[in-house]
Amino acid sequence: MAYSQAAAHEASTNPSTDFDAIIIGAGVSGLYQLYRLRELGLTVRVFEAGSGVGGTWYWNRYPGARFDSESWTYGYSFSQELLEEWDWEEHFAGQPETERYLNYVADKFDLRRDIQFHSRVTAARYDEDTRSWDVELENGRRYSSRFLVTAIGVLSAATMPTIPGVKTFQGQSCHTHYWPKEPVRFEGKRVAVIGTGATGVQTITEVAKTAGHLTVFQRTPQWCAPLHNAKITPEEMRRIRDNYTEIFARCQETYGCFIHATDPRSTFEVTPEEREAFWEKLYGEPGFGIWMGNFRDILVDREANALISDFLARKIRQRVKDPGVAEKLIPKNHGFGTRRVPLESGYFEVYNQPNVKLVDITETPIERVTPTGIKTSDAEYEFDIIIYATGFDAITGAFDRINIRGVDGVSLKDKWKEGPQTFLGILVDGFPNMLMVMGPHAGLGNFPRAAEYSADWVTGLVRFARDRGLSRVEATAAGATAWTDHVIASSEGLLFTEVDSWMTGINRNVEGKQVRRIMRYSGGHPKFRERCEAAAADGYRELALA
Ligand code: NAP
Repeated sequence: MAYSQAAAHEASTNPSTDFDAIIIGAGVSGLYQLYRLRELGLTVRVFEAGSGVGGTWYWNRYPGARFDSESWTYGYSFSQELLEEWDWEEHFAGQPETERYLNYVADKFDLRRDIQFHSRVTAARYDEDTRSWDVELENGRRYSSRFLVTAIGVLSAATMPTIPGVKTFQGQSCHTHYWPKEPVRFEGKRVAVIGTGATGVQTITEVAKTAGHLTVFQRTPQWCAPLHNAKITPEEMRRIRDNYTEIFARCQETYGCFIHATDPRSTFEVTPEEREAFWEKLYGEPGFGIWMGNFRDILVDREANALISDFLARKIRQRVKDPGVAEKLIPKNHGFGTRRVPLESGYFEVYNQPNVKLVDITETPIERVTPTGIKTSDAEYEFDIIIYATGFDAITGAFDRINIRGVDGVSLKDKWKEGPQTFLGILVDGFPNMLMVMGPHAGLGNFPRAAEYSADWVTGLVRFARDRGLSRVEATAAGATAWTDHVIASSEGLLFTEVDSWMTGINRNVEGKQVRRIMRYSGGHPKFRERCEAAAADGYRELALA
């Protein structure tokens, strides 16, 4: 039997299932969820497609991959010992450091013994008779559990562009998400990068340092702002460690769980000189301050947004020597902050280098990838390496790639055809005992801060079910509709809703993802937590429990 507790608890487990809970994914949220569920005394198995832990930080090992969140706000907060032991090397850690950190966590808490690597989950079916989930792996093996917890990330289903001829290229090519573990050398090579999102910006900056020649194919320029990364000195690390309680408390108070809190002033409350000085200060500071710590109206008021966009456009013009290239790098179809802001470390200066060329594919579209390179409407380019920094089928994509079937065999993909519908981003009606850590319509932001909360809430619900001998927890249709309506209502008036991006569910490379949808809760984390706390404090009475 899985639980050691008395018989009253047995009903919430099913002695005939392989595990009490199956978690999909051993990334930031899956590792923590495993730790928490094991603490409850559950038998848990994590299925992970990769050969190691880390999720995002396992897969995305492309050149230049690093945090845009302050490292010391990104680490787990649950273990004082871990906080005491781990020293961050940089204010914004690179992928290798973060992967090392997550491996350290897995070892420290002996998590690996419950993680099965090389195990991609392809299907999960709910069985009403046993009130359990039947989970199938790519290799055909099947396992059952009472609870199914998805910890599959929000940006984990990478997408290749639907450009003809991609498979015909004879050189080296790779999507940034699937970057090889062996180092790739760019010296003397002709390299192409397609895509200029946060990933492309980091990749381009790094590859430009050594490539023989780099050609960047840009469809939409981005409002990038400086990261200002630096090493953490031992003295700084001591101060950070002494202040962890305050740091995490502050993250809990802010809209996106970052250290940066919105400035309560309006753009128009200050003089133009004060405004300019404030923006100069933010532009000179590390991290997301310019996005998350800016005047309160820049993301809702068109005029305010136009002013901050103009400030950033001037910066681009100052930093890029060729005025024609600078104009191409200035976004024209969306305002600052209405897409996720990429933070950069010398990105714009890359275009001053003689070995770098920017191709604006809105002017000269890519017609096809050829065996030797890329053909646009006006030129044929030859490459040794093509890098696809073309993004993800975000938020729902990872769910769509698993054949998830709930009550009566209903497919989750079909249910979410017109957009996700969830209760608190954690439960879905018709999919009992399926719990999503950081599912659609949860709040996004500084990921681990939000994921820890989400996993704690899931743990609370599982504990509640266990203590009361419940074997079935499900959102009601009315509960899911109410939360979905609230999520949509909270995004009203936010300028990001008028812009195509992964945050509005757009991926032009994926069928059915061409219509803007609200994919995340925009009311901010304090409100999100308040709502979740209320649901728990009320004994989960909004759920259907049996
Ligand atoms: P993304 O923001 O969706 O960017 C994808 C890029 O590929 C866009 O420039 C897109 O152009 C382009 N693209 C896609 N299909 C194309 C096609 N067929 N032809 C030409 N161009 C095409 O994806 P991402 O850069 O991987 O970033 C996704 C998110 O991951 C980020 O917003 C961020 O939240 C996260 N991330 C975080 C970090 C960090 O913490 N430091 C780093 C990297 C990523 P359009 O814009 O025109 O569609």
